[in-house]
Amino acid sequence: MTALTPNAQRLLRTLVADGPAYRADLARALGVSRATVTNLTNRLSADGLIEETDPEPGALKNLIGTTPKLGVLASVMFLVDTCTATVATLDGTVLKSFTLGQLAEVSATDRLAAGADLLGRLLAERELTPGDLRALHLAVDTQMDARSGEVYAQRASSRWYGVNPKRYFTERFAVSVHTENSARLEGLAEYLWGAGRGHDNVLYVDVSYGVTAGHMIKGQIQTGARGGSGELGHTVYDWNGPLCTCGNSGCLMQYASIPAMLRDSSTGTGRVTDWEEFVALAHEGDPAVMAISLRAAKILGRVLINVCHMIDPEIVVLSGEIPRALPGFADVVTELLRDHALPLVARNVAVHLAELGYDHTASARAGIESLRAIDDVVAEATNV
Ligand SMILES: [Zn+2]
Repeated sequence: MTALTPNAQRLLRTLVADGPAYRADLARALGVSRATVTNLTNRLSADGLIEETDPEPGALKNLIGTTPKLGVLASVMFLVDTCTATVATLDGTVLKSFTLGQLAEVSATDRLAAGADLLGRLLAERELTPGDLRALHLAVDTQMDARSGEVYAQRASSRWYGVNPKRYFTERFAVSVHTENSARLEGLAEYLWGAGRGHDNVLYVDVSYGVTAGHMIKGQIQTGARGGSGELGHTVYDWNGPLCTCGNSGCLMQYASIPAMLRDSSTGTGRVTDWEEFVALAHEGDPAVMAISLRAAKILGRVLINVCHMIDPEIVVLSGEIPRALPGFADVVTELLRDHALPLVARNVAVHLAELGYDHTASARAGIESLRAIDDVVAEATNV
């Protein structure tokens, strides 16, 4: 195979950045005639770098996508109990995806090895090798330095203490590894395919056992300098409040999270309830449970007013067990924003419930999309 012409490389870059496309779309994107596109696609097909996908057999015009021969992308995402790995072509077409379970009690070292083994297996099943990988997206459910991969030692990240997930995957697969917090990746999935689709500037807020957030602008997660952005659960609501797992007092998650609300229910009423019972009581209109729910919603709403004043999102997507299960919870948050935020925010921001739930496959696929949004990844992958 001889080196590709600049137009052929541009065509590949367009497919990688924008996904499979029709010839007419490629002609428009490249600013060339359809005849030129046909010449280019004939050449690239002959080299085995692109192929016609065939969504409708017999259709006159078929989508054109990149082949695994041009290279593949991988996404590995760890959550408390699971690891999901996804392998996709450079244009984002998923080739393989699988979720391993029962990893909660496994040591950090063994959990990393299980994730890497899973990725190795998925590659092998498609007759691919680590050498076919062009970039890897790694999402871990802890505070990890996006540059060095270091997991910062504190109680909240003890499950990952003592390992460097980024270095492990970089060495094992000899590929550039881009990292993200798993919660933020769930937010990107919601931005791409859920309640956030069609909006450019989305604040994703997950309220369940913890509280996390992700801010997406034009398809990119705003991670901060080292990936530390979005720790909404540890923003302090009251410095004299209950002690938090992070060592501070009065963090948001000490008011608006499942453990905090069960704690308040237990201390307030003497009843020890689990989450299912708490939700059932809320639906029956139990006054004590509704009061706890209302207080949590108000505190979350007040904290979100501060956040919205800082970043002015187009919409807020509320995700997680709490807004999904508790009647009226999201409405209280919405009303607080409407009534107490400054007018520019209050009159324009909308609050939506998440649509995807915890869809591991979608979240891992969002890691693939995250890679495809990085200019350097696209440029290197198409430099053939
Ligand atoms: Zn905290």
